[in-house]
Amino acid sequence: MPERLPAAIHEKLTQRLTYYQDLGIQLFYRNREAASAPSGAAISGCADANVPLATEAQFSNTTTPTEVPLPKTPTKTVIPAAPRVLTSPATQKIAILPKAPGTSLFDAVNKIPNDTLLKVREDLGDCKRCKLHSTRKTIVFADGNPKAELVFVGEGPGHDEDVQGLPFVGRAGKLLNQMIEAMGLQRKDVYICNVVKCRPPENRLPERDEIECCSPFLLRQLDVISPKVIVCLGACSAQTLLQTNRGISHFRGQWLDFRGHKLMATYHPAYLLRNPAAKSEVWKDLQKVMAVLGLEVKRKSAEASRPS
Ligand code: URA
Repeated sequence: MPERLPAAIHEKLTQRLTYYQDLGIQLFYRNREAASAPSGAAISGCADANVPLATEAQFSNTTTPTEVPLPKTPTKTVIPAAPRVLTSPATQKIAILPKAPGTSLFDAVNKIPNDTLLKVREDLGDCKRCKLHSTRKTIVFADGNPKAELVFVGEGPGHDEDVQGLPFVGRAGKLLNQMIEAMGLQRKDVYICNVVKCRPPENRLPERDEIECCSPFLLRQLDVISPKVIVCLGACSAQTLLQTNRGISHFRGQWLDFRGHKLMATYHPAYLLRNPAAKSEVWKDLQKVMAVLGLEVKRKSAEASRPS
């Protein structure tokens, strides 16, 4: 006889699963490797590269949907987390980072047929799924071209974004606009969104539970847009999408894969405001993106318009 879950846990899991189903997430698998991983090995979320990793115990009150009997799903093979380097026809190297072991929300998600950004926004609604709702003014969904080939993913709204309801409209946003223009594009050509859609108080890093609540919507946005290239601005978005705890400096500037899309992680514009010397590194990353998008790197004009 299979053991029965205690009623309270069963109820909690049922609620959590209903929530995932509301988001259109139907498929789950159990990562047996993660189940046997030594404690302390796994987190995903916005880990600052210099901050010690949190232990699993710190997240032990996070319900794990994989433990409940679910509608029959095709068994998904769990590939051992070994680094792989793929070579695309264009001979760009796509590095696959070893994923942090742990339940992967993204791996559990299939594309929702006929999904649209409108539906994603409607499903998000007047979101109160996490504690950020209680301090936000506005939900900051996204800005830009829904058919963009290039998507920028930031961390979360700051004060100006919270007030205006648009991502990257403050000082960091002005720098991002310059970066976009230096690439020969305009802000309206690209799509800009964040990992979390409500402002974390005092501009702190989004917390794991907040990312877990919000990232399914980000995933749906990315699936609907299906861009050629995703640029992660800063560690938070890169670590979230790549499910890694590694510091961004380990993989910044390399082509990575996110569900079949090319992903480039680079430094956040807010970091560049504090460390202008890093702008040249970001510019190198953006030039790689330009090459993939077929945007000409005009040496002279690029030098002139390069974000200064
Ligand atoms: N920083 C972010 O990561 N996102 C914004 O929208 C603004 C600042």
